[in-house]
Amino acid sequence: KTSPSVALIIGVTGIVGNSLADILPLSDTPGGPWKVYGVARRPRPAWSEDHPVEYIQLDVYNAKETQSKLSPLTDITHIFWTTWANRPTEAECCQVNGAMLQNVIDAVLPNAPNLSHICIQTGHKHYIGPFETFGKIKPHETPFIEDVPRLDVPNFYYTLEDITLETCKKKEGLTWSVHRPAVIFGFSPYSMMNLIGSLCVYAAICKHENVPFTYPGTKGAWNCYSVASDADLIAEHQIWASVDPYAKNEAYNCSNGDLFKWKSLWKVLAEQFDLEYVEFDENQDYVSLAERMKDKGPVWDEIVKQNKLTPTKLEEVATFWFADVIFSGECMLDSMSKSKEHGFLGFRDTTKSLLSVVGKMKAHKIVP
Ligand code: NAD
Repeated sequence: KTSPSVALIIGVTGIVGNSLADILPLSDTPGGPWKVYGVARRPRPAWSEDHPVEYIQLDVYNAKETQSKLSPLTDITHIFWTTWANRPTEAECCQVNGAMLQNVIDAVLPNAPNLSHICIQTGHKHYIGPFETFGKIKPHETPFIEDVPRLDVPNFYYTLEDITLETCKKKEGLTWSVHRPAVIFGFSPYSMMNLIGSLCVYAAICKHENVPFTYPGTKGAWNCYSVASDADLIAEHQIWASVDPYAKNEAYNCSNGDLFKWKSLWKVLAEQFDLEYVEFDENQDYVSLAERMKDKGPVWDEIVKQNKLTPTKLEEVATFWFADVIFSGECMLDSMSKSKEHGFLGFRDTTKSLLSVVGKMKAHKIVP
């Protein structure tokens, strides 16, 4: 039996790729029934085994391997791009991420006659610039709106957009969408940037060592209004843009649709790990979370052993540097008006989103 829609998820074990793999195969997902191929670099992890997805282990930076593994998949109709590669400079990020996307397009476009949509995930750095220019260039005003001019600095998000738009010109009827989430709340233990996963690990370490669960950021980030993006919501947004004719060929912000303050979420997080809530202390010296956690590898090994957790290494399950980035920014708000005008009315309550991720972290025995 053939499916009308065949998805190729690049980055299927990532923070949003994992949600797409959860949602696309469901019987009531728009555009379905979906057949799903999922690509990731490593062997399939245990926590992704339940998804009815044809798993393909592949490094898409390798052009030859990408050709040989993806060109036989002639039934692909939709590409979901939920991956990225980090490099020391943004110029290198542009080169590598561009080559990865081009390799996939070169393998799929000539061989999959029904390819109809390419969906690209980028993010708020579209408006504030890449990590290397933080604090050095003037970002766009908040709340971010989609149709502002690009910043005058290299940014691999712009490279991905350019390649996608060029590709769509080559095939009649081939459409695109770009999705720009804020910080993502989702379950993916190996994600290169996972804020809530990292905070769960930090909480578990505080509990184990019986030390206060102190907030590791600036006063501004503690007190200001923030927005976040639930990974399942992003997946729903991407699926919407892939199948709804009124959504196509546009870039969209993609956040939960509510506001929160870290000082409130910190309390919720503390409760989940049976830790005392500690207020931000102005007199406390600032030490980054990455610095505080730099020698905790053996402590994590002990926690894993003692609690019979899924075996992981600290550097796999925690990206403390990313928490430091988030907890030094302020008021990174975006507007969801464009999505609503085009027909996407989905939303998430951010507190419930946080609880759902913590629940998954515990259910999959990543944290105690
Ligand atoms: P992720 O790190 O969670 O997942 C990456 C996935 O891609 C994994 O499945 C990994 O195996 C796969 N992958 C990596 N390199 C690969 C390669 N060479 N070949 C094949 N597979 C490969 O990714 P993410 O955080 O969802 O990032 C996707 C985009 O979203 C990035 O542009 C990122 O900047 C952006 N973004 C992320 C966040 C966040 O909080 N994580 C927030 C906003 C925007």
